[in-house]
Amino acid sequence: MTVLLSGRWSAAEGERWAQLLREAMPEEQWLLHPPRDAAEAAAVEVAVVANPEPGALSGLPNLRLIQSLWAGVDRLLQDPTLPVGVPLARMVDPAMNEAMVHTALWAVLSLHRRFFELQAQQRQALWQPPPQLRASECGVLVLGLGELGGRTAQALAGLGYTVHGWSRRPRELAGLRCWHGEAAEGGLASALAAADIVINLLPLTPQTRGFFSAERWAQMRPGACLVNLARGAHVDEAALAAALDRGHLRHAVLDVFQQEPLPPDHPFWPHPQVTVLPHCAAQTDPRTAVPQVRANLAALRAGQPLAHLVDRGQGY
Ligand code: NAP
Repeated sequence: MTVLLSGRWSAAEGERWAQLLREAMPEEQWLLHPPRDAAEAAAVEVAVVANPEPGALSGLPNLRLIQSLWAGVDRLLQDPTLPVGVPLARMVDPAMNEAMVHTALWAVLSLHRRFFELQAQQRQALWQPPPQLRASECGVLVLGLGELGGRTAQALAGLGYTVHGWSRRPRELAGLRCWHGEAAEGGLASALAAADIVINLLPLTPQTRGFFSAERWAQMRPGACLVNLARGAHVDEAALAAALDRGHLRHAVLDVFQQEPLPPDHPFWPHPQVTVLPHCAAQTDPRTAVPQVRANLAALRAGQPLAHLVDRGQGY
């Protein structure tokens, strides 16, 4: 099969992925540049992509599969020229799942045990032990119980935290109380009000864009913390800064932002109640991701069901 590789990445990153994919799948014809003529475009059956330039996948009449190397497909779905009717699969990578659990555990432990405040105290030579709460006395709400949120919620429950979770459809996960859907809005509101720490692992869809608005902060209990590991567009950043500045929220750990990289003059950089991460909570690991691509291409060739297909109607 002819496979087009297309991504918005540095030359070095593109070359690295091309080399790994070609080594793992030497039987495929890899097209590493946009098709140069109609014959090259007609040959393409699969596109392996990493947030390609808008329009990069149009004009491919025989395209049978779009395989994303990244987990989030929100930018891809925003491209109005994305071919309709072609299956779109996203990356579900075990190493990325593990990394996300680690980042979330670090953030929750740091917030629960006040390690960010202790870091600030060290800079002032302040010897001031904080009160020690048990994990069960700390309520954590995980928004989104999919590949990443589900694992994160269960890992936190395993450490003894009092965990609640929220998803679109009903879910049952051992060790936590699950809420779902629009009908559970009352449940969501009470879960938000009860949480000391809220972790965002929702996909970015028309329904979840701007989820963390001024009204949402008002639903959260005074002194609560936010951990946003999903997408910057979930958060109204000005409203978040205001909620932090007036002391309603205690701290925010932010891995994702409205604009990335975060501009050097952004108020979050020096903010004492914000911990900034450069969108590194969990990255695709080629060592575990390339075999996922290989498996989906083999399934396509054999007419078998494809893994991790995106429901375009739902936007994730
Ligand atoms: P996923 O497997 O698709 O799970 C999404 C979860 O959100 C599901 O539980 C889903 O409910 C729920 N959901 C969707 N729409 C909802 C709504 N309107 N109301 C309530 N719940 C809703 O996604 P994932 O792979 O875990 O990824 C989660 C997020 O992490 C995405 O935003 C992704 O882009 C981001 N991400 C970030 C990084 C990073 O480094 N920061 C790395 C990878 C991914 P159902 O269970 O009912 O479907």
